[in-house]
Amino acid sequence: HAKQIGRDSFQPFTPQIGEALHSRLALERDMVEALAQDQFCLAYQPQYDAQRRVLGLEALARWRHPERGWVSPVEFIPVAESSGHIVELGLVLLAVLRRDLDAWKALGLKPPAVSINLSWEQCRKPQHRERFLQQLKLLQLGPDEVEFELTESADFEDIDKPDSFVFTLQGLGYGLAIDDFGTGYSSLAYLRRIRCRKLKIDRLFVHGLSANADSHTLVESMVRVAHAMHMLVVAEGVELPADEAALIAMGCDLMQGFGFSRPVEPQAVPALFGVA
Ligand code: C2E
Ligand code: MG
Ligand code: MG
Ligand code: MG
Repeated sequence: HAKQIGRDSFQPFTPQIGEALHSRLALERDMVEALAQDQFCLAYQPQYDAQRRVLGLEALARWRHPERGWVSPVEFIPVAESSGHIVELGLVLLAVLRRDLDAWKALGLKPPAVSINLSWEQCRKPQHRERFLQQLKLLQLGPDEVEFELTESADFEDIDKPDSFVFTLQGLGYGLAIDDFGTGYSSLAYLRRIRCRKLKIDRLFVHGLSANADSHTLVESMVRVAHAMHMLVVAEGVELPADEAALIAMGCDLMQGFGFSRPVEPQAVPALFGVA
């Protein structure tokens, strides 16, 4: 019974846990086929400046499962990470981005460098880093076309190593953004060392900030720190007009959120830039 969970030091095996485990295993199994069968695609969420111009795009993974329909990345990314499939998925998504960029190009659109999310699991092993770099080269995805988002995490300690993937990508000219800033574990000292192009403030601090003095103070401080270090600030999860106004008053550079636009399919991207 649910009430008993947590009373013991171990979790009893309940039907609910069995179901969750079964669903995870099923997703993991289906992923292999999905990778071969082109079931993954990218949705794009625009980023806006204070004048409501679109100045950026974030690419977000989507899985069209033949039986389940759309599966959320909140579900399948953790499964991909724990199973190791994230490495292959990362390569497949770069190819998807290439395809979308080519389709936009045919319509006369060249968007600013598209931000794609990277998991630390893709960056850890030298052979995985090498395959990632090879794929960028093969697809001719340059720094003018793609940049990368990495979640702030304990793994930022890896940047102490001189062969760090972060430095490799930056050395090749690629822009980096720290994702979900404020929710992870890295210290401010790392901000100084890695010198990312963008800092993305997590929506946990952004949503409702105009009505919450503590959030307001925190976000204002993050903007000031980022600017002092010559980084651009992106606010995530902007939904409310009052929050947008407060962010603009603080000098936040870019805003992303349902209040502006949800992630859209690639076919809808040109219209965001007034093309086609
Ligand atoms: P993220 O990188 O922080 O992406 C932002 C997420 O917040 C997206 O969810 C987006 O749809 C959602 N979002 C945007 N604006 C709002 C808003 O105003 N309100 C709310 N409530 N949500 C908003 P999504 O697409 O479900 O992605 C979830 C997470 O999955 C991403 O968080 C990222 O960590 C991961 N992810 C997505 N695509 C990839 C990928 O290609 N590779 C990797 N490694 N991770 C990915
Ligand atoms: Mg992101
Ligand atoms: Mg984020
Ligand atoms: Mg997030």
